[in-house]
Amino acid sequence: MNAYAITDIGRKRMMNQDYAYLSLEKIGGLENLFIVADGMGGHRGGGMASRLAVESILSELAVARETGPERILTDAIRSANRVILQKSLEDDRFAGMGTTVVAATYRDEKLVVANVGDSRLYVADQNGIRQITRDHSLVEEMVRSGSLSREQARNHPERNIITRAVGVERALNVDCFCVRMKPGDQVLLCSDGLTNMLEDEEIRGILTEKGSVEERARKLVRTANEHGGRDNIAVIVMEPFSDEVNL
Ligand code: CA
Repeated sequence: MNAYAITDIGRKRMMNQDYAYLSLEKIGGLENLFIVADGMGGHRGGGMASRLAVESILSELAVARETGPERILTDAIRSANRVILQKSLEDDRFAGMGTTVVAATYRDEKLVVANVGDSRLYVADQNGIRQITRDHSLVEEMVRSGSLSREQARNHPERNIITRAVGVERALNVDCFCVRMKPGDQVLLCSDGLTNMLEDEEIRGILTEKGSVEERARKLVRTANEHGGRDNIAVIVMEPFSDEVNL
């Protein structure tokens, strides 16, 4: 397996509130771990929320007794929810903060994904790109109810409003997905700073180019900035079968 994580402040924002984390080593009951978190709220709140999400997921994994990656990821995100909410209630500077989380782990040709918010996980190959996660956003709900087209959603003034976030309410539903992987598949975790700047087909093109995972991750970030870089950008490119191919 090969993977590379990168975040970039973009061209318009004063702070980077996105956080990208990866481990190719075992963490608790997981073989490896990939997380993108996009924080929001307050002057310092957003950056605090995304960092705290990753840190509390990691500390929960270290003590988790569950087996099964779906349950482990879901419990860890729920634990992050409690930690962030507690911090925001204790300290006025962080009131109302929250974060998206998309987290994934890979084992035995199976990718397990958990998400809250509108950060996404895609799987792409030479033939196409699939968004595995479902956005918890106002425009996604409007598209699903039929009151908005995909195209209108892309340019909608309220496309940044999310309907679910980590750290905002006591109860939290975490969505889980399981995807069987095949040789040649490329996995992308990213924040909306990438997906608001690039069409899916443009993402697929870069993701499946020749070159290392680092080169392709950097090119995705560079392209988002060339298109305006209106928001922070977080990208993780992961290639599950790369070792086998290189042998
Ligand atoms: Ca964002």
